[in-house]
Amino acid sequence: MTHTTTRVSHGIGDPVSDAPPVPRAKLEEIFQDIQADLRYDHELNGCLNCGICTATCPAAHYYDFSPREIVQLLWTENLEGIYDVMQEKIWACAQCYTCAARCPFGNSPGGLIMLMRETAIKHNMESARNVLRPFSRVMLKLISTGNQLAPDMITRDHFPDWGPNVSKIDAPLKVLRQAIPVPTLNTTATAWEVNLKTSIELYTIWEETGVLKQLETIDENLFDVITDFMDEKREDWKDWLADQEDENDD
Ligand code: SF4
Ligand code: SF4
Repeated sequence: MTHTTTRVSHGIGDPVSDAPPVPRAKLEEIFQDIQADLRYDHELNGCLNCGICTATCPAAHYYDFSPREIVQLLWTENLEGIYDVMQEKIWACAQCYTCAARCPFGNSPGGLIMLMRETAIKHNMESARNVLRPFSRVMLKLISTGNQLAPDMITRDHFPDWGPNVSKIDAPLKVLRQAIPVPTLNTTATAWEVNLKTSIELYTIWEETGVLKQLETIDENLFDVITDFMDEKREDWKDWLADQEDENDD
């Protein structure tokens, strides 16, 4: 599914140094991909350089990161600066959107950062692969079961790589989750039983929204495992439908 805007700059005037990190044509392509998203028009309306976004940004308190800097780079079409922040800084954002609630221009710095992240994935940047690699197990679980975790899974046995402290959050989480009136989320046995039709519908959403294409870009092996799994589930779904028709014919 591709949405485009008319905002894409042609003939970007920002000067590029004698030795850009990648050729200027590539820098322009990356920026135009960010601009081409339908959300860009809504999320960047100008920038006063006032710093309110950075003053309220939790990530800015802990990292060398400033949403003001990132919005300014986009607003001034600083191609090299945009490329540079995509190598590390954009991944510091917690996507809390405090900045969007405060910006006097109605910008959404967090939303713009999300567009830059998606573009980093599309261009197979090393920063995107490094950041997303630890999540491959989570993605596999999510796609193959429909759920990732149930509270009673968070134990040392299930997550030996999380270290001994995982036991400290075991009991409280389980109790807290039971207060939420969604009984199917309470235990491993029930949380992982996702309806087959729901799974098939999720696959369609992931395909249509480009999630799977993004996954293929950053981790081809995981993509292959997941598509095999999806094919099997789709076959199961077809068999189930055929069984239903047979039963109706009888
Ligand atoms: S709050 Fe808005 S106008 Fe101010 S620096 Fe941040 S993005 Fe720019
Ligand atoms: S969405 Fe990102 S940039 Fe905005 S306030 Fe939250 S952490 Fe900071």
